[in-house]
Amino acid sequence: MIVIKVGGSLGINYDAVCADLASIVKAGQKAILVHGGSAETNRISERLGKPPRMVTSVSGYESRYTDRETLEIFEMVYCGKMNKGIVERLQRHGVNAVGLSGLDGRIWEGIRKATITILEAGKKKVLRDDFTGKIEKVNLKLIHLLLNGGFTPVLTPPAISYDGEAMNVDGDRAAAMLASALKVEKLIILSNVPGLLREIQDERSLIPEIPFQRIEEFAGFAKGRMKKKVLGAVEAIREGVKEVVFADARTALPITEALAGKGTVIH
Ligand code: ADP
Repeated sequence: MIVIKVGGSLGINYDAVCADLASIVKAGQKAILVHGGSAETNRISERLGKPPRMVTSVSGYESRYTDRETLEIFEMVYCGKMNKGIVERLQRHGVNAVGLSGLDGRIWEGIRKATITILEAGKKKVLRDDFTGKIEKVNLKLIHLLLNGGFTPVLTPPAISYDGEAMNVDGDRAAAMLASALKVEKLIILSNVPGLLREIQDERSLIPEIPFQRIEEFAGFAKGRMKKKVLGAVEAIREGVKEVVFADARTALPITEALAGKGTVIH
């Protein structure tokens, strides 16, 4: 079994990801797809007159400030447009996909952090009423039911808090939690870059391989949102996943290539 996370940034070839996944699933490989939707959420938010607000926590991680209205737009795009678009593509390729969020069956459960401290123009600021959180528990009952029934789960944030509230969580770390809980061999994280680059602007600067014991040396190359991917990879491997691959979702065969070791392989 493999867990594949496909991002939500511009340039991702969802048709290719789904066609490639279909051929892998039809060849007998069990897989779960986790996806994002950030670029589309930003676009729809702008059109709805509620521009996204990206904030940086005091620890240096970037996230979307998610008040109730933002959460509703987030769900419209992630659980609606993105999730159903992916399920439709997989179904067209003959894969019996089922799209769910982390709310359904409490798949991703954790702690809501209603208050966050951010850094804005060098100053600390406290934001309240944030519907974001951290997954602490993966409930696999529904996932096993689906896999045993021959379905291919397609999962997306939000997750659910212990109190039953929807909460925005990072997709890479959610995928990492799922991969760890399922004890899969491989977690593939696809995005609009070839992998972890030494220089963000230079795709030839790809780091092809990182032995896990040397991850600290390389983690510093990750800036902005790439930092959470590295964090997710570290968490997954620490919890028993053998290999994490960061690979390109803009190619014709994104998953096949990642399985063949193209991208940044962390092990
Ligand atoms: P997704 O939404 O597809 O999960 P993100 O946009 O969250 O992806 O993260 C990928 C982005 O991270 C890239 O588009 C790139 O701009 C940025 N990034 C920052 N540092 C690096 C790095 N060292 N190597 C590759 N990409 C990086």
